[in-house]
This record gives sequence, structure tokens and C-alpha cells, in this order.
Amino acid sequence: MATILPSPPKIGMVSLGCPKNLVDSERILTQLRADGYQMSADYAGADVVLVNTCGFLDSAKEESLEAIGEAIAENGRVIVTGCFGKEADVIRARFPQVLAITGAHEYEQVVTAVHEAAPANLSPYLDLVPDAGLKLTPRHYSYLKISEGCNHRCAFCIIPSLRGDLVSRRPDAILREAEKLVAAGTKEILVISQDTSAYGVDIRRETRMWHGREVVPHMTDLARELGKIAPWVRLHYVYPYPHVDQVIPLMADGLILPYLDIPFQHAAPSVLKRMKRPANDAKVLQRIHAWRDICPDIAIRSTFVVGFPGETEADFDYLLDWLDEAQLDRVGAFRFEPVEGAAANALPDHVPEEVKEERYARIMEKTAAISTAKLAAKIGRTLDVIIDAVDDDGGATGRSYADAPEIDGEVFLRDAPGLKLGDIVPVQIEDADEHDLFGVPPP
Ligand code: SF4
Repeated sequence: MATILPSPPKIGMVSLGCPKNLVDSERILTQLRADGYQMSADYAGADVVLVNTCGFLDSAKEESLEAIGEAIAENGRVIVTGCFGKEADVIRARFPQVLAITGAHEYEQVVTAVHEAAPANLSPYLDLVPDAGLKLTPRHYSYLKISEGCNHRCAFCIIPSLRGDLVSRRPDAILREAEKLVAAGTKEILVISQDTSAYGVDIRRETRMWHGREVVPHMTDLARELGKIAPWVRLHYVYPYPHVDQVIPLMADGLILPYLDIPFQHAAPSVLKRMKRPANDAKVLQRIHAWRDICPDIAIRSTFVVGFPGETEADFDYLLDWLDEAQLDRVGAFRFEPVEGAAANALPDHVPEEVKEERYARIMEKTAAISTAKLAAKIGRTLDVIIDAVDDDGGATGRSYADAPEIDGEVFLRDAPGLKLGDIVPVQIEDADEHDLFGVPPP
């Protein structure tokens, strides 16, 4: 039976007050978009309405109360944030039905309140950000969405029918957002979209001015500019079109992280053809080797689907051999599941569940062995690590350039007192296991 996917919740936003408040509103909406929410242009279509208030003057407070009253009258489900939020008792006295009240710059709290009021139902079939439950993106890393929709029609995917063809954001708007995120404490930007390498194909002639220079809406140009803004920039959902070769020198030069998340999904040509995958190039292995010649440290992560309709034992063996040669650093695997509305459901020769399970176990075993060997080779090296958590005993947890949050491994530090979230520190790697590294800051 096909899996039926929920539709994403919609958020309405009323933003009052000064430009700083507008920046906060944009930051909150960026996070919510990354979390799988959609925006509603009117009260009626919203599952919950956010009112970002101003409390600077009495007149601004009165305006904020009016806006809250209007949102309650028109929609009923309202969350209040912003400067006036510090006078929660005044707001509650007038509007006891408000769902939550948070203060200025409390991004995490307001996004938590939205998650509670209208759960996002993150789906691995639709959403780009890993489902971390209610754990929100800490300030030191942020997802930056550069486009919406997709021009491809992969047989297992329903995103184009839900979200439409690719629509790219203006490069100057993306870069402005990146600057604001960094000003608010972001050290690592994770670029996301359905198809990052296709960024700009719909607006290719629309160059924009950015800090006095022209920026072309193209992945390479965008990556270069983002690399000047944020200490770490990580690219996700890159398809291996020929122009991807151009971003590898940016990685070798240290401008962006030497990390590529490429959802290959399979390697056997006949399966890729039935999947209708983009950039389905038989020479991709050669290109991976060429990338490693330019940037030996590049970490490549990917996902694969096993048990796609018509996948034969020979196709699956081809995939395992391909993985042996590709030596990918990080791999996630999924058993094929029909999603309601996907073209693949109608394909012949569905693979029996027990065969999918057996292939899944084999691919996990193969990729774990590759990962273990690749991580062991890092013992003795010193790697920069971004700190995600600290404990009371002088320990800390972070990630290297090769680890995206939630989906890849971690680096566990001992004897590392005094670190703060978001610090980027050198770490001497002492040990490794299947997925993680262990180390200590150099004396
Ligand atoms: S590239 Fe394929 S899998 Fe990815 S969003 Fe587009 S249609 Fe879906």
C-alpha cells in the first residue's frame, strides 16, 4: 500500500516595528521554511499566526495589541513574539487565549511554540532538514534555502507535483539573509534546496548587485559569495552536473567546506533510468576521482534506495561494486516504499520485502566498513571541529567538515574545558569507530 503524506502546516506572520524586528521575523520564517512549513498570505489559510510585536513606545504597544486582537479575531490561533513579549502579563490580561508569548530575539523559543501549536510532520519524502523532533537548529548553524521546487520528475518522488517546478531566490536576497544569519551568531550555513546545482536556471539572466559587484544566479557564484560571509558553508542536494566540477577548487581553497551531499540513489544504469534520475552520467566515478585529485580531503555523502521496482540481483551487485570504488564517506540507505502519487508505484516487478531487507542489510554492512576505514585514516590528524554541545566535565561534542548535523557522525572531545557552542577549534584525532571520531584539543 502506498504511503500517504500529510500536507505541510501554514504560518501567517504579522511583523511590526523596526528593521531589527524585521530581521528577527525573517530569521524565524527561514527556520520554519527549513523545517517544512509553508507561509500563508492571509489569516484564513494559516494554521497559526505569529505576531512579532514592538514595545518601544506606548503607541507601538497599542498597535501591537491591535494586531494581536485582529489576528485572534480572524484566525484564533496566535503566538506573540518580539519586544512587547516581555510584558506577557499585559498581553495575557487582554488576550488570555494567546497560545504562547516569547520575547525579542528568542528564535528558538518561538519556533518551538510553532512546532507545538502546528506540528510539522517532517517527512523524509518531502523535507530537506533531518527530523530532529523538537530539537531546533542552534544559532551557530542555520539552513539556508536557495530555491523551491524541482524541474525533474524522478519516478519515486512527488515533490514536483506538490511544490511545482524550480523557482530560484534572487542571489542578493540569499546573500543578505546569510549576512543576517551570521550577524545573529551563525557560524555554519547549510545550503538546501531540492536541486542545489540547478540553482538559477530559471533566472539565469537576472544578475544582481551585491556590495558593489554583480552576482550571477549560479551555484558556483553563490557558493563563492557565501564563502566570504560565513566561516563554514556546506552544500546539500547537489546533483553531479558538469558544472559541479567548478565548486571543487573553492573547496580546495578553503572558501567552502570540502563536503558534497549528492543523493545518487543508485548506480546501476538500468535502475537510474527507470528512476528517471537527473545527471545520470556513467562517468561519475571518474569525476569523483578527479575531484579527489583537486581536493583530496573532500567528504562525499549520499543516499541510496534499495529494492526499487525491477532492481535485479545483478543491479544490486553493481551498486555494491560501485560503492567499493567510489569510497563515499557517508551513506544513508532506504528500502523503496511507494508514496501515494509517485509514478514508480505503477512500475512492474516490485521487489519482495524480504529481498529489500536483505539488500538493505548488505548495503549497510558495506558502507559501515568503508566508513570505519575512512575514519580510522583520520587518527593522528588535527581537524577543525565546530562545537555543538558541552558538558560539565570538560567534555564536548562537535563535528568536523565531513559531518553535517543530525545526518553524519560526530567528534567527541575530552579535556576540552571552556568551549562554547559554535566555537571552531582544532582537535587532534585520537580514535575512531564506525561513524564517529574521538579527540582532544592540542595542548
Ligand atoms: S530531483 Fe528527483 S527526487 Fe529530487 S526533488 Fe526533483 S524529482 Fe524529487
